[in-house]
Amino acid sequence: MQQLNPYEHGECYVTVDGHEADLDLGHYERFLGIQTTKANNITTGRIYKSVIDKERRGDYLGKTIQVIPHITDEIKRNVKLLGNKYKFDFVITEIGGTVGDIESLPYLESIRQLKWELGKDALCVHLTYVPYLAAAGELKTKPTQHSVKELQSAGIQPDVLVLRTEHELSTTLRKKVALFCNVDENAVVQSIDAPTIYEVPILMQSQGLDVTILKKMGLPVGDTPGLGPWRAFLERRHKAEETAPLHIALVGKYDLQDAYKSIREALSQAGTYNDRKVSVDFVNSEKLTDENVAEALKGMAGVLIGPGFGERGVAGKFVAIKYARTHDIPTFGICLGMQCIAIEFARNVLGYADANSREMDEKTPHNVIDIMEEQKSITNMGGTMRLGAYECVLQKGSKAYEAYGTEHIQERHRHRYEFNNSFKEAYEAAGMKCVGINPESDLVEIVEIPALKWFVGTQFHPEYSSTVLHPHPLFVAFVKAAIENENEKK
Ligand code: GLN
Repeated sequence: MQQLNPYEHGECYVTVDGHEADLDLGHYERFLGIQTTKANNITTGRIYKSVIDKERRGDYLGKTIQVIPHITDEIKRNVKLLGNKYKFDFVITEIGGTVGDIESLPYLESIRQLKWELGKDALCVHLTYVPYLAAAGELKTKPTQHSVKELQSAGIQPDVLVLRTEHELSTTLRKKVALFCNVDENAVVQSIDAPTIYEVPILMQSQGLDVTILKKMGLPVGDTPGLGPWRAFLERRHKAEETAPLHIALVGKYDLQDAYKSIREALSQAGTYNDRKVSVDFVNSEKLTDENVAEALKGMAGVLIGPGFGERGVAGKFVAIKYARTHDIPTFGICLGMQCIAIEFARNVLGYADANSREMDEKTPHNVIDIMEEQKSITNMGGTMRLGAYECVLQKGSKAYEAYGTEHIQERHRHRYEFNNSFKEAYEAAGMKCVGINPESDLVEIVEIPALKWFVGTQFHPEYSSTVLHPHPLFVAFVKAAIENENEKK
């Protein structure tokens, strides 16, 4: 298990095989619609750990361990891992950071070696920034030139340059960059600010980036892909963006954009597929009280209770849930959000005033959310978190079943605590149903209040698997319910 603080890394993204990565991997999945695994993400920590483990095992026969060749060999091995294991036409490896960082030096050296070893089969795309000086009304290419020089001094000549810019780059400017940086003119591509990042593939294609790369690699250039479904999505999105925004409250404690990245993206995708612009309005749960909740949730067509860890901000989540439940506002609780839905119900409907999760209260006799060692040991192999994809069977007739349209699903988890099955009967008798169950461990994965319009909590994180071309059914259903709720009120 890794520790990723949302304030440093943004959201922690989880792959189906239970690897915790930063949010970049989520972008790749949303774009490609392909599920990634641990092999799709390398960290310096893992590289070093692997080298140290090998050294301890005696693999290096007692030789002195050095950055070159030991660390660089391990980096190269990881870069080549996917290509060796599976049949891919291309393996794209993104190296984060900035050229010149001390941290990235071993990676650059590995890339230099790989390019040398692979010849035409390797290609280097370098991303640079072109600042715009508003006062002078000028785009500056100097940082690009310097960045390329720095890269060249590491022995790498970039084949393609992608320039991040706020303004259109002129042909003259592209020519200048090409000349100074030793790059073909058609290999200088702009990456201009777009209304959403989902426009970017189309913008890259229109500049012939794909053709440039194929030609440079000596590969045949076939027909231009139509990207039909992608374009259809964008067209639908543009239309949706023109509608009046549907306000969804995102109740959580992490007051920064990236902390709930996948949830925001999943909601906005679901909006597009419902032909509606969605505005995700962050509501800080630390500031919510019974006195201000009506004002805070005013105009919200739906309420999403976010995931999280620890006590901070939990009280406000109960306040929001109670308000949404008693006012029948469509509500979606995710992970800690689902646990809070269960706790609020126990306190205010079942009458257990001291109901809580073992995470927040060690001693409560109404531990409706708890560590379920006996059940967890079946699936978790002793790790402290339930991580990665687990099966879930849905009850026919439930809102969840209606959304998925199938009985068997698999969803990704990242949590320690579970719904306590000894309270299940009491819940069901009082109107909260456990409609998604892990068939192996009998753990409750989804709760619902069928009497309400749409009130669903999932122990898993559906947001991780919502992609551009396959929006997540629960998000689509939630947004749909929110739209219906809003229409009813008109
Ligand atoms: N803190 C809760 C747990 O560990 C929920 C985690 C989460 O929301 N991802 O079970």
